[in-house]
Amino acid sequence: MKTPASNGQRIAVFPGSFDPVTIGHASIVRRALPLFDRLVVAIGENSTKRYMFPLEQRLAWLKATFSNLPGVEAISFKGLTADLCVERGAKYIVRGLRNSTDHGSERSIALMNHALRGVETIFLPALPEHAHISSTIVRELIANKADVSAFVPDAVRLP
Ligand code: ADP
Repeated sequence: MKTPASNGQRIAVFPGSFDPVTIGHASIVRRALPLFDRLVVAIGENSTKRYMFPLEQRLAWLKATFSNLPGVEAISFKGLTADLCVERGAKYIVRGLRNSTDHGSERSIALMNHALRGVETIFLPALPEHAHISSTIVRELIANKADVSAFVPDAVRLP
């Protein structure tokens, strides 16, 4: 359906915490991009969640990581992902699946977003070489002063 916000374009939202963005996230963005005219990579601001990196830092890393991809926009948002989709004229949400645990929880969220706003979720399987990478594990490595440069995009500079 054509909406004023979409201008007839095929738009998708890729929501997440990106605390921090990893090469797994970046791979999903690159693989999803050919399917859409525009991809909005969106950091959800969840006031009850504790993050390792402040929102401004996570957003700056996202923007720097995808600055060479014209179809990608990085933003932050408050509230429901489904509402962001309507606001942005996005009919699709993109999510990555690493394992069956991801699949179990993502399925319910996808069905709820469809029930709420008619938004379809497109799942891309993590590539085998990225299936073990998560922001949680990267944070654990950082907390223990390990080198994470192999798991995060070049734009993510850590002291
Ligand atoms: P959230 O807190 O919403 O799960 P994340 O930043 O952890 O946010 O993940 C955002 C999305 O990226 C999720 O769909 C997640 O499954 C996907 N993702 C995370 N890591 C990877 C990876 N290594 N490969 C593929 N997809 C991934």
